[in-house]
Amino acid sequence: MNFAAELAKFSRIAEEKGLVDSIEGNLSMMDRSTGNIYITPSHKAKLLLTEDDICVVNPAGTQIGGTGKKSSEYFLHEAAYAARPDIGAVFHCHAPYLTAYALAYRDFIPPADTALSHVFSEIKCLPYGAFGTHAIHQGIEEALDGRPAALLGGHGVVCVGVDPEEAIGLLEAAENFAKTLAIKKFLF
Ligand SMILES: [Zn+2]
Repeated sequence: MNFAAELAKFSRIAEEKGLVDSIEGNLSMMDRSTGNIYITPSHKAKLLLTEDDICVVNPAGTQIGGTGKKSSEYFLHEAAYAARPDIGAVFHCHAPYLTAYALAYRDFIPPADTALSHVFSEIKCLPYGAFGTHAIHQGIEEALDGRPAALLGGHGVVCVGVDPEEAIGLLEAAENFAKTLAIKKFLF
């Protein structure tokens, strides 16, 4: 598989969906055969990314490919792959309705017996950690134990999947549900 090309494609899709922009959000894939992580570069519009822009980082943490500078939230992705050996993609963004829960340091718990509750029994909120530091992923191992997503306190949300399609799709579903809950609260 051409990981860089695949990642560039799904980064464009994530921006088309309005989940990320040139400043916020990042997406990665891991090649489990080499341990290399492919990640979006900082401060580039995801809509314009090509495979040459995608940063390749080896297991030692050294960038070995890509014209851009690896995302400052790289440590978050690295920790998610370490916590979940079964996944191949990590998606982080500041989707507004889920991020509202993160800013309030509240777990997101969908009402029981909704379709979403079968996928997300809960999305746990991690304590605040400054981006660009290892503090950002404090507690992620427990939060992602049997769950596909976690809230980053005071910051945003991270979702994992076997591939970018699954990680983005799950996050989009949770975000839409959080939006519906907010509308319900407003209307009724
Ligand atoms: Zn962020």
